[in-house]
Amino acid sequence: MIAKRASRFAVAAQEVRSYFDYESVLVGVLDVTARLFEVSYELVAVQTWHEDVRSYDVVRAGNRIGRIHLDMHPREGKFNHAACFHIASGILGRVLPEAALVCNFPRGLMEHRQVQTFFHEFGHLVHEILAGRQEWAAFAGIATEWDFVEAPSQMLEEWVWDAEVLRTFARNADGEPIPVALVDRMREADAFGRALLVRTQLGHAQVSYHLHVNRPADIATLTAHWYDVSTPVACLEGAHSYASFGHLTAYGASYYTYQWSLVIARDLLSGFSGGLMDAASAARYRREVLEPGGSRAAADLVASFLGRPFNVDAYREWLGGARP
Ligand SMILES: [Zn+2]
Repeated sequence: MIAKRASRFAVAAQEVRSYFDYESVLVGVLDVTARLFEVSYELVAVQTWHEDVRSYDVVRAGNRIGRIHLDMHPREGKFNHAACFHIASGILGRVLPEAALVCNFPRGLMEHRQVQTFFHEFGHLVHEILAGRQEWAAFAGIATEWDFVEAPSQMLEEWVWDAEVLRTFARNADGEPIPVALVDRMREADAFGRALLVRTQLGHAQVSYHLHVNRPADIATLTAHWYDVSTPVACLEGAHSYASFGHLTAYGASYYTYQWSLVIARDLLSGFSGGLMDAASAARYRREVLEPGGSRAAADLVASFLGRPFNVDAYREWLGGARP
């Protein structure tokens, strides 16, 4: 599929990569989220678990509202995926929220998919911090339903598909911003095979659910069965994919949340009708969806932001290849 993508859409990964140097992507992530959520990030020298970690205070109107730590590059023996880790629950007037991203991005040029992952994980991070002014720890930060937990992060992924946003930080070695025409082709290529990839995701969801409820003696056969009925992409025999499926322990039966949250994430984007950097929409999103944390049902938060209950229309259009 990769070769086809390059020839059919004229998107060469090495060309795309030349616009995404880690240091400028970092500046981009911080700038974009600072503008969206009316915060600033101040680099602070604090003791952490490794010298690679960069720590920032999250500040609004001169007040510190939380602290984040970014541990972003691979090293021997480190967690080898990308995730947001909770450190301290924010309790209003008593404890500032604190969280960390642990990722494995290159120090130089990044793949666009990695930039997307950076925005995704940062979506969890800002959720953790902005929802960190609660009276009770149980409602603080990402204390929301599993059905919704991936929605803020998957929504923020959309910012890396917007030429206007990308051109604020994606520049090549000559300082030229990423061409709009290239971003258009990237968006087209991204839609290619989308439904097929979603079917693989549905396979992961089926495996996660059925291994949890059935507890089979023969894990391999049950796993192969659920991929077989979900996707036309055949499993490799003897691959034992379940053995490296980390979500099976972290998310249990809830892998389905990636698609269910995506239904909500696609709908949330319709609340940004003035564009992804529209300040009024972003402020409303922050107030109605992120800041309440787990203090209200997620469906109610989403309905407050959208002015109606969420529905599957935007997700269905996205499945068909459309993007707002
Ligand atoms: Zn996530």
